[in-house]
Amino acid sequence: MTDVEHADLRCESCGEVADHELRYAGRLLESTRCSNCGHHILLDQRSLVPAYVRDLEQRLVSKPGRMLRRAARDPLGYARQLPGRDPPQPAKFWREFRELLR
Ligand SMILES: [Zn+2]
Repeated sequence: MTDVEHADLRCESCGEVADHELRYAGRLLESTRCSNCGHHILLDQRSLVPAYVRDLEQRLVSKPGRMLRRAARDPLGYARQLPGRDPPQPAKFWREFRELLR
């Protein structure tokens, strides 16, 4: 199952702040794509994760609105993607994400 989120990020390729498409496979962030220049990054290559993906992580921790809106649209689907039985907690989600990038 693939899920798509969007976030405004500064692209490391074209240098513009543009909408980026974030593709998830389950709860794993799989790839990002810049809507301005099409720059595509596969996160299989964990060692090559660029700084702006880390920046994304920090933005979403400080601005969890998108994730909360998504949780509101599909609370069961959202909760299923989170570890354990806790209610949706974006900060916890992103801590997990950070673990994955190590
Ligand atoms: Zn770009």
